Order: sequence, then structure tokens, then C-alpha cells
Amino acid sequence: MSYDCVQEHQDGLATAEMSATPARVGPNAVIQLAIVLQLRLGEARARAVFARAGFAPMLDDLPDEMVDERIPAALFSALFAELDGETAASVAEEAGLATADYIMANRIPGFARTLLKLLPGPLAAPLLTKAIAQHSWTFAGSGAFSATPGSPIVVEIADNPLAMPGCAWHRAVFERLYRNLVSRRTTVTHTSCCHDGAPACRFTIDISGGGPSRASAS
Ligand SMILES: [Zn+2]
Repeated sequence: MSYDCVQEHQDGLATAEMSATPARVGPNAVIQLAIVLQLRLGEARARAVFARAGFAPMLDDLPDEMVDERIPAALFSALFAELDGETAASVAEEAGLATADYIMANRIPGFARTLLKLLPGPLAAPLLTKAIAQHSWTFAGSGAFSATPGSPIVVEIADNPLAMPGCAWHRAVFERLYRNLVSRRTTVTHTSCCHDGAPACRFTIDISGGGPSRASAS
């Protein structure tokens, strides 16, 4: 069974189908989605999304450790099946921003955050890119992550297991990390997508205009 693209999980997955050694991603792909759905759209619609994915009970027992990548993949697919595209993308974006906030608060040591913010953007960018690459399995799962430094930075996730229309979740994760730690002016563009049949999701990260202007949030 291939897990190239999220639409293949349209009907959700029964737990029994899951293999013994699935690729895993960080639990925030599930946790932040649940929180954003509940806060923005209410309990009933959050439950409808989780139920469509086949994971209704998980809403009452959110994961606290790495999860099978097929769970958030099915949830993201259900998100777009249950809601209109604009709302679904907006929810995914907000969940991605919250995931980046969690990463910054819990996965990047305080001294590293301070260092990144003190360094000029062009020097901070490769350090952050390297840190992201080292932890890429937490958001890329079985997908093959690669990053090419430069201006812009090009990040690719081949066979992205969490692809969705426009990949608002990944785009938001990258944008908030680079905006807060490298340059507030960073823009992230999603230029090709596994969901559309491309072999890889590609994101171009442009930090131009960076330097002294850094977001104050840590
Ligand atoms: Zn994509």
C-alpha cells in the first residue's frame, strides 16, 4: 500500500490495517488540529472530522507521543472532505502555526532561540534549516526531506504523507519558524505538491528583507 498522498486515505483507516512499524510523526499534527477545530468550529464539527477519519475516540484521548503518520494523514483528508476548502485550509494553517509555536517552546533550547534571533538573518537561516532537517522526521514521517540553502531556501518533502490541497499545515509551520527565528519578513511559497501528483512537495522560503526585524515572540 502506498502512502504517497493523503487523498488515498479518503475513507479513513481501521486500526487493524496498521502495520507494526509505521512511520511516525509528532503528536502535534493531531493535537493542534483537534484544538483548533474545537475552538473555531465547536465540538460537533471537530467530532465529525475525527469520525470521518475513523478516529472519533481520539478526540477524547489525544496522543502524547509520536503517532502513526496515517492518523494525521486521514484527519487532514477528512478535514477537507468535511469542510469547505477555504475553511479547511484556514484550520490547517492555524494548526500548523500552533505546532510551530510548540516546537519553538519545547524543541528548540532557549539559548539556541536567543542565538538565532541575535544573528543576522542570512546567518541564522542555515542554522535553523539544519535544525529543521535534523528533526524532519517529526513532520515529514516517511517522506524524504531535503533542504537546499540559498536565497530562497528550497525545502522538499518527497512522497509527503501529510500532503493536502495547498499544504497549508506545512507552509504555516515553516513560515512561523523562519519568521520568528530568522526574519519577520519571511514568505513561504508552496510551488509543487504531492497532492497534485508531483513527486515532492516543494516550499521556497524567502527571508529577504530580514536582518534587524525579528518577531518578539519566542
Ligand atoms: Zn504539498
